Amino acid sequence: MWIKNLTDEECDAILERATVARLATCADNRPYIVPISITYERTGSARFLYSFANLGQKVRWMRQNPFVCVEVEELVDRVHWTTIVVHGRFEELDPVQHRDEANSAYALLHGRSEWWQPAAARTSSTDLYRPVVYRIRVDAMSGRQATGRSSA
Ligand SMILES: Cc1cc2nc3c(=O)[nH]c(=O)nc-3n(C[C@H](O)[C@H](O)[C@H](O)COP(=O)(O)OP(=O)(O)OC[C@H]3O[C@@H](n4cnc5c(N)ncnc54)[C@H](O)[C@@H]3O)c2cc1C
Repeated sequence: MWIKNLTDEECDAILERATVARLATCADNRPYIVPISITYERTGSARFLYSFANLGQKVRWMRQNPFVCVEVEELVDRVHWTTIVVHGRFEELDPVQHRDEANSAYALLHGRSEWWQPAAARTSSTDLYRPVVYRIRVDAMSGRQATGRSSA
């Protein structure tokens, strides 16, 4: 199997077409990972992953510790795959304090059909429905791609 490291531009291309990612958070020395829906934006040298959530464990943990890790993958089979690992920081987009960024996030996220459905699903009737729009500011990222079996 050949594995190559991807350039930042190749990582951008994968992230631009990604719709689902794994978000890893950590609080009180305990890791927590869940799938989330994402949309990606590159503005000059700044890169962001945008998402939306109920007020639950992952948002509470990211408020406590904004440093997160996000993984995106395109899996064909065990020898044909691409994965991107992003290290970044949670930034909550308060609709009043960050009106422009929050509106921009809504516009980006609404471009994705049904992006909101998993986030809006309540797990019990006692849950409080409080949507939180946030982005992950990308501090560093790496990509690896397996391109098939070695002929050796
Ligand atoms: C394809 C896909 C896309 C999704 N997109 C989004 C999105 O954009 N935004 C969003 O907020 N959510 C999304 N979800 C749902 C997300 O994975 C979480 O289930 C949900 O957000 C609740 O997370 P929470 O931290 O608020 O958990 P809480 O509701 O606070 O629940 C806490 C506990 O529930 C359990 N739990 C939570 N989520 C899961 C899970 N998925 N599987 C198993 N156990 C779980 C854990 O044990 C956790 O400790 C998506 C799910 C899928 C499959």
